[in-house]
Amino acid sequence: MATRKSGALFDKVLIANRGEIALRIQRACRELGIKTVVVHSEADRDAKYVRLADESVCIGPPPSSQSYLNIPAIIAAAEVTDAQAIHPGYGFLSENADFAEKVEKSGFVFIGPRADTIRLMGDKVSAKAAMLKSGVPCVPGTEGALSEDPKAILKSARDIGYPVIIKAAGGGGGRGMRVVHTEAALLSAVSLTRSEAQAAFGNPTVYMEKFLVNPRHIEIQVLADSFKNAVWLGERDCSMQRRHQKIIEEAPAPGINPRVLTRIGDRCAEACRKMGYRGAGTFEFLYEEDEFYFIEMNTRIQVEHPVTELITGIDLVQQQIRIAAGERLAIRQRDIVKRGHAIECRINAEDPYTFVPSPGRITSYHAPGGPGIRIDSHIYQNYFVPPNYDSMIGKVIAYGDSRQHAIARMRIALSEMVLEGIKTNIPLHQELLADDSFLRGGTSIHFLEERLAKRGKT
Ligand code: ADP
Repeated sequence: MATRKSGALFDKVLIANRGEIALRIQRACRELGIKTVVVHSEADRDAKYVRLADESVCIGPPPSSQSYLNIPAIIAAAEVTDAQAIHPGYGFLSENADFAEKVEKSGFVFIGPRADTIRLMGDKVSAKAAMLKSGVPCVPGTEGALSEDPKAILKSARDIGYPVIIKAAGGGGGRGMRVVHTEAALLSAVSLTRSEAQAAFGNPTVYMEKFLVNPRHIEIQVLADSFKNAVWLGERDCSMQRRHQKIIEEAPAPGINPRVLTRIGDRCAEACRKMGYRGAGTFEFLYEEDEFYFIEMNTRIQVEHPVTELITGIDLVQQQIRIAAGERLAIRQRDIVKRGHAIECRINAEDPYTFVPSPGRITSYHAPGGPGIRIDSHIYQNYFVPPNYDSMIGKVIAYGDSRQHAIARMRIALSEMVLEGIKTNIPLHQELLADDSFLRGGTSIHFLEERLAKRGKT
């Protein structure tokens, strides 16, 4: 590995991801004067962002298991190109503690938290325990793992009150949980969730929480350095979801008491200091009737990070790189000024009504633009959307003085956008941006699915 003067930023960073986030990280590196290496699968060989990188290395065939999840191939690519650090983006290996550990053991810097922090937060039972210890409020539920004893399980549910939700400690991506409404259904639901958890995550541990009936999904963005300095950069409302997949996100979250928000944000920053958290991170909460309940922490950059960047003026990806290079946070809490409103629409290559993925060639593409419009996407006319990966092909982000202003700009942007050859969810976004409940703001995490069910299009 090439040596680096202590405290200096990196000369070269390897990007272990693909698509829009690979391009986003590449842009951040270029602004910082850092050279980039992009690793890619055979399916992404011709992508323009791969060509734009200073160097690129093919790490395997299209299936992610043989390329973007292939740890030895990624580390070998860093070795042959003399990269100093590895940015994992989101998804793929970004929250894989073993990967983070191997990266560091091989002499590279992992742009993210320490492996033990990722491990602690990757297990929802230990994450919840750490939050309770740090004074972050959690959903009422069992302390630690659920007992094996049927009597104790029944008692826990009675104490919490129905409905309850049984969740796998190792769960993720909205999988490994089951809602239980009655005592009669409890024990079979617990054993079913346990065996599913064992099969899917190799860990049968489950826990029990109160099932919140109509919450919103509100999350807090944090940045922390290696010297126990930590700040929070406001919240995002990501309640517009289908099958736990977010599709529209915004900042700030409409209609939440700023005092309640400040209290929770300060606690998140404090939890980072107590845990010795390093890097960018997100505390995810369910929010109901003025109360926040922690559900999980994401130890990486998130898809929806641009809305926070637009209202704070802080480049989160550059901050990640600076922190990983050993710099002290130059931002203090009092420096963070939130201005205006930002909304992000995730553009997916899928049928807007059946949600069936729609990979293929983009025959015609005109990106929208104008004041307050940011496009984070790697696509272009004649780009082939490979069938092997997530269907998200980009994000349109609109900024305005107010929520209404941002929505108005988003509507104009989507109406200008031409994307032909494949199906996209743009028509669904256009419907939602005209929906009275969305326009009022503050819809719950069930809003979209209920709306889709009404027209028989889930
Ligand atoms: P994952 O890691 O799989 O995304 P989370 O713990 O973040 O799991 O939960 C995913 C989603 O499941 C939440 O956004 C919410 O919609 C729902 N959920 C989780 N816990 C609860 C709860 N206690 N009450 C109501 N809904 C919940």
